[in-house]
Amino acid sequence: MISITAYGGVDHIGGNKILLEDGDSRIFLDFGEPFNMKDEYFVDWLLPRESRTGLKDYFFFDLMPQIKGVYGEKWLEDTDLKYSKPEFDAIFISHMHFDHAMHLRFVDDKIPVYLGAAADAIRRSWQETSGAFVNFGKHEFKTFRTGSKIKVGSLEVEPIHVDHSVPGAYGFLVHTSAGCVVYTGDLRLHGPRSDMTREFVKRAAEEKPIALICEGTRVSPEDPREDLSEKQVEDRARKLVAGSKKLAIVSFYPKDVDRMRTYRDVAEATGRKFVVSTKVAHLLESLKDDSRISVPDPMTDPNMLVYVRQGMSRPLPFDNRYQEMLGSKNSHVVCCDDIAKHQEQFIFQTDIMQLTELIDILPSPGSLFIRSKSEPFEEDDVQEEILQNWIKRFNLDFHQAHASGHANKEEIFDIIRRIDPKVVVPVHTEHADLFKKCGRAVKRPVARESISLSK
Ligand SMILES: [Zn+2]
Repeated sequence: MISITAYGGVDHIGGNKILLEDGDSRIFLDFGEPFNMKDEYFVDWLLPRESRTGLKDYFFFDLMPQIKGVYGEKWLEDTDLKYSKPEFDAIFISHMHFDHAMHLRFVDDKIPVYLGAAADAIRRSWQETSGAFVNFGKHEFKTFRTGSKIKVGSLEVEPIHVDHSVPGAYGFLVHTSAGCVVYTGDLRLHGPRSDMTREFVKRAAEEKPIALICEGTRVSPEDPREDLSEKQVEDRARKLVAGSKKLAIVSFYPKDVDRMRTYRDVAEATGRKFVVSTKVAHLLESLKDDSRISVPDPMTDPNMLVYVRQGMSRPLPFDNRYQEMLGSKNSHVVCCDDIAKHQEQFIFQTDIMQLTELIDILPSPGSLFIRSKSEPFEEDDVQEEILQNWIKRFNLDFHQAHASGHANKEEIFDIIRRIDPKVVVPVHTEHADLFKKCGRAVKRPVARESISLSK
């Protein structure tokens, strides 16, 4: 008999913390933060006092499960949960997205963390470019690749790459005493590396799994958002940029390396330069030694440049590094004046935190703004309202072009039928009830309640 307990990722998208137990062997699959975690009791500067009181405020509002033997000692000092030695063997991270990895900081450093080699490079870059804001703890981080087999007690974990909107994304085949349990992580079939997802599905099916823990981000009654492939994003962006004689501004998730490649290609096709932030440049630089991922190098690619912010304080050391290159007139580093003077020559990457750069660049009215990330989930999205105010203030020509990181409902159901597990456990979804239409037995998880499985 083995058991699965979802401590997060139940009835909402993200925050996966899935415990798998087989006798004395206990591992977590992912340890992420739910996107909506703080929405109910916290806002703006009203935040949990974690640097002073650890997990106290989280426990008070029941925002984190009180599990013995998982959290680090310092996080528990002000709480009623007594520290005890680690009672878990390892944490396996499917990919380095916030909602799958961000709560690692609370986990006892003595518990090792396994993740893909590219995911670990992303982790290091993320931490280095975010100052004190991002912290994944001081664990022993052990890396794997497809083909690795990691033995943890009576369990053996076999990671297999999948296509998602970040490099280094994996699904897991966990071989247990009761049979194979498969975990999808996050995946898609319409991306540039759908072959990897298909390989994962094929391998999973061969194991005749007793359970499939399956993501369902886009399993919903209706999905009003556009369903583009990466190629379609590129085609639309190329037409928009080619048809404009002004600055083209794009925003996308800062770890979506496929999108970076897409805009590099759009720049090449339209005779422009694709200008990325120092943060993006740092991430690409961190991944460039990985021979299995092809990433453009903004410091040498003839179609790319790195943008350095100007101003009195530049607290981040990685920003300083590029600033120094600017001083020595490195031809791949530019500042606001360069962009402002020759607006029609550039595709300028920005995100909501960097919109203030537009005040220095002053894009001429009618400049393009392509939002290349998902449309907001909620109608009253505050960031969206603010973004639209900036668009109006600068009189920008707004467009949307995005390919999701997640398979749609039909594709998810097709994946389930192909893998053909004895039971499906839907996670990372707001509509677990809809899985009953997938054609296989479904066990809908209840948060923090164990599901027992046998051969
Ligand atoms: Zn993800």
